[in-house]
Amino acid sequence: MGESEQPESKKAKIAEKEAVLTEIKSIISDEYCQPVQLIEVYVGHVGDPRHISKLISELNRCLPIPRLQHLKRVGRDGLIILGEIEYLQELLKLEKYSETSNEVNDLVKDTAHDATVRCSLTRYLKLQKVEDCLVDNLCSVIVKRQVARYQPKLRWQYENAKSYWPCKFHPNKYSESLYMNTVFNSVERTYHLRMMSACLYLMRRFESKPFSMCVNPKLNRVAAIGVGKSEEHPIKHCPMVLIDNVAVSQNGGAWSASYQSSLPIESNWNLNGVDSEYMRVLNDKFSDVIFGAQPVKAVDVSVRDNISPHEDNLGKYGPYLCTGYDAYFTHEPCIMCAMALTHSRIRRVFYHHATEKGALGTLSKVHCVRGLNHHYEVFKIF
Ligand SMILES: [Zn+2]
Repeated sequence: MGESEQPESKKAKIAEKEAVLTEIKSIISDEYCQPVQLIEVYVGHVGDPRHISKLISELNRCLPIPRLQHLKRVGRDGLIILGEIEYLQELLKLEKYSETSNEVNDLVKDTAHDATVRCSLTRYLKLQKVEDCLVDNLCSVIVKRQVARYQPKLRWQYENAKSYWPCKFHPNKYSESLYMNTVFNSVERTYHLRMMSACLYLMRRFESKPFSMCVNPKLNRVAAIGVGKSEEHPIKHCPMVLIDNVAVSQNGGAWSASYQSSLPIESNWNLNGVDSEYMRVLNDKFSDVIFGAQPVKAVDVSVRDNISPHEDNLGKYGPYLCTGYDAYFTHEPCIMCAMALTHSRIRRVFYHHATEKGALGTLSKVHCVRGLNHHYEVFKIF
């Protein structure tokens, strides 16, 4: 179901109330929101502290821990990480430690299992030519410990992770501010709330259809306005129409002819991506919202073809769709639209209503998918 195909009663409800917007919340990747995930490792004893560096280099040689590089190998109380339990069990060809064992026998089983690990590991390390005294100290006591599975992203996760085992952490001020929702100063906040209010105003004025605006944040100018047209075609969701209108403002576009062809065009700004009717309605109530995309230079084909392949596309073709732009949506985009926004190279997305099939926080977080070659930031305004 497209965003515009909501039941009539729901539409009416949305249309009635004029939302007072006050909050901007970052929609960030789950790895920034979740508590630290843990994994069990075996740890041994350093013994003589003077042997630490030798021991670390020997262990890195015989028992590397590539997936635990975020941890310090040596922890508190003279303990040192030997390796992930599963990895060591496989390496030492030990029987899998059964977590579902009978409670009465647990203690006996634990002790027996730990003794087996000790013996096997001692044998393995001595075979690897690690000095006897290092091995004997190391394997005198082997116990299980829980440690952080991944490197913490935020300070609160780091504090949590290091309560289990010392770990490395690279603080990132911007990530912290996204998590704390303090990215925007008061001027920026006011601007984003205002732009969303303008979208919602259009929605109320035009049959509760989903609306969107694409803004060049360097100029604070609206380059294009989009409206959901699912009734015309099933893929004409609001964000798809918006992207097409941005293309129109750059002398392209597949669906929409220029909205302004009959109007005198402001010499400095391209208004082709904005329907003059919406512009008129907004001018009445939002006189501070200004319009116009930066005109795209006509591409001289002979020049373009002579540009070396090493020069970037910007030099070749001018701005590409939504590169560097922010977009405001009354409704959370679906997966198709979220991917279209990825392809359009949008910079930031703001939305108001979460939707059932929303892909920027509700069903998934398409903007956080690692494998994609472009990522944008997402904020919910409410
Ligand atoms: Zn959609």
